[in-house]
Amino acid sequence: MFRERVKEELRSPDLGAALAALLGSAEREPDERGVYRLLGEHGLLGVDWPRRYGGQGRTAVHAAIAVEEMMRAGVPDTLFVNGVQTVGNLLLLAGTEEQKQRILPRLAAGRCFASVLYTEPGVGSDLSALTTRAVPVDGGHRIDGVKMFNLKSGITDYGLCAARTSTEGSRYEGLTLFLVDMRAPEVLAERLDTMSDEQFYRVALDGVRVTGADVVGGLGQGWAVLAEALPLERTGLDFALRAERWYRAGCGGFDAPEGLAGSDGHDRAAAPGPTADQLADIGRHGAATSAARLLAWRCVGSAEAGRLDELGTSTAKWYASEQAAAVARWATAAHDFDAPPELAALLDSAYREAPGLTLSGGTSEMMLQTISSFLLAGGTT
Ligand SMILES: Cc1cc2nc3c(=O)[nH]c(=O)nc-3n(C[C@H](O)[C@H](O)[C@H](O)COP(=O)(O)OP(=O)(O)OC[C@H]3O[C@@H](n4cnc5c(N)ncnc54)[C@H](O)[C@@H]3O)c2cc1C
Repeated sequence: MFRERVKEELRSPDLGAALAALLGSAEREPDERGVYRLLGEHGLLGVDWPRRYGGQGRTAVHAAIAVEEMMRAGVPDTLFVNGVQTVGNLLLLAGTEEQKQRILPRLAAGRCFASVLYTEPGVGSDLSALTTRAVPVDGGHRIDGVKMFNLKSGITDYGLCAARTSTEGSRYEGLTLFLVDMRAPEVLAERLDTMSDEQFYRVALDGVRVTGADVVGGLGQGWAVLAEALPLERTGLDFALRAERWYRAGCGGFDAPEGLAGSDGHDRAAAPGPTADQLADIGRHGAATSAARLLAWRCVGSAEAGRLDELGTSTAKWYASEQAAAVARWATAAHDFDAPPELAALLDSAYREAPGLTLSGGTSEMMLQTISSFLLAGGTT
């Protein structure tokens, strides 16, 4: 069975040891490149990509199973969400053959990082207002602007940058996506201190040059490509799995109810169990977390059938990210100062990460706006 094979790969001596070392590191943001490369070597990245682009030639369902098991094993999802899933899947959808051959095999092998450069200071939800400009120069374009909230910029090779190439027509026209060499001297990444463990970067593009080979999806086609690609980022699976992890942590902090064996198999009948109110919360969050995962899997099924729709993905993204944030708040409040150190560290990290989930990949309000527009237009869920 594929799920068992993925688990075996994750437990294999080299990957298992590297992952254990990463998870045991006391550093706030340890170097994850070794684990990333091993994930590639073990065939866990680009699972549903064609073999000619370095993938495993499997289905969207297999790719989702790999994501589930990687996250359950503790692999940080930023190792594959930003590059492989977001940039890689967009290139698969809209990139040229040369771009696919240049970048996808290296992403699938865990040998190159990529991320998106969309957000700007003051421009996030409404990307049509972005101000980064790409002006024609000899041999291509010159890009100037500032991008915000980029992750892993210090180790990223390619940035997929949204820039304005024309001011004619509506604000949705004249946007273009470019592949930018993040190691170019005109790219200046500055670390921003943030609450969560993973740090953001502000990326200044100071006249960085790109050629026609770096245009993704055609000049002026940026908005259309984004509209098609963004639902791919919003299955909600990574958020549902965070909710699952934090829910387990939250439940694990309680002693089992009287007479029941604890999750470690020991009978803790002697210890006081959760109160009736706490049991109600455990049940409510357990059901909502399962619902988040089911909504995500519905999107995976739609992707498999080639009919991923914006309503389904907005619903899944909104519900799963809100549920993950709610579980983080509940679990932290339930255990407050009395949790054992390992659990306290996990809950502390979850509490700091949770608010960002309802912003990244499209904010909750924007997801609700998409859902309500669809329903007002007479659609059904
Ligand atoms: C963990 C994380 C990772 C990220 N990674 C990246 C990355 O790799 N690359 C990248 O480019 N960006 C990244 N971002 C940025 C992210 O895409 C933006 O934060 C997001 O698009 C929101 O934009 P903003 O922060 O400018 O907020 P705004 O768009 O200013 O929104 C602020 C608030 O106003 C609400 N709002 C805005 N417009 C409306 C409206 N029309 N109606 C109702 N409410 C509205 C929003 O819902 C939100 O609550 C990341 C963010 C996070 C938290």
